[in-house]
Amino acid sequence: MVGPWPHKPFTFRACVATFGPLWVVCYSCRRFRRLSLAGIAERDYRSVTFSCSRCGAKGDFVATQPNTERGQEDMRDDPVENPQRHPAAVRRLLAGRHEPRPFQDSRHERQDRRR
Ligand SMILES: [Zn+2]
Repeated sequence: MVGPWPHKPFTFRACVATFGPLWVVCYSCRRFRRLSLAGIAERDYRSVTFSCSRCGAKGDFVATQPNTERGQEDMRDDPVENPQRHPAAVRRLLAGRHEPRPFQDSRHERQDRRR
């Protein structure tokens, strides 16, 4: 007997239930790590980004262990103890944000231009 799908859609938990284990890959460094769901299991995978702690490049998550894929045998499982976000990744993430503009009264702005 089949019950209803127990997982919230678009969560990492639902993704793992569908595809099995996930890996995060840096194609620049040719390295990968198995994705731990600790702290992200219920998060929407469409809103989570990954970056490489060694080079700062954007990371992708994949459903097949990378070094078992044809042409990717050189990829290596490369653990980093206590990985931290690379400064280049922080700059890239912050570049998309902008400071809120200070309040401006547009009527005064228009009057100023007429003078
Ligand atoms: Zn990298």
